[in-house]
Amino acid sequence: MEDCIFCKIVRGEIPCSKVYEDELVLSFLDINPFNHGHTLVITKKHYETLFDVPDEDLKACAVALRDIGRAVYEASGADGLNILQNNYRAAGQVVWHAHYHILPRYKRDGFITSWPTNPYGEGQMQEMLAKIRDKL
Ligand code: AMP
Repeated sequence: MEDCIFCKIVRGEIPCSKVYEDELVLSFLDINPFNHGHTLVITKKHYETLFDVPDEDLKACAVALRDIGRAVYEASGADGLNILQNNYRAAGQVVWHAHYHILPRYKRDGFITSWPTNPYGEGQMQEMLAKIRDKL
């Protein structure tokens, strides 16, 4: 897509610190890292969110996440590693080109990965379960 920043990186119009590339996937260091080694894995083709990505591209991302994730974990000496994927503005998506974050994690690095809980009321869990299954 013409104006998409990640498409420009794929086309080589904007430089990146490339970690990996194959036919379907490109991976590079995030320019504004949460921790050093914060790496992005993107589809080479333009899809806006996860839900738009075809099976073949998604499978390529999954394999890349496993292999690059391991490399980032080992190279950074991190204590742990998150794979994060944002869809839509409310979930923190800023770039409208499907991508995953690989985040090296350290004890007490300040990133909150335990969220406040919102318990179900009477019958609400079954109701939500039925709604989700209905959409599959
Ligand atoms: P998201 O909030 O999930 O849409 O994340 C977009 C990410 O892209 C952010 O973490 C940005 O720091 C990163 N980003 C934006 N532009 C560039 C760029 N030119 N090179 C590397 N990372 C970028």
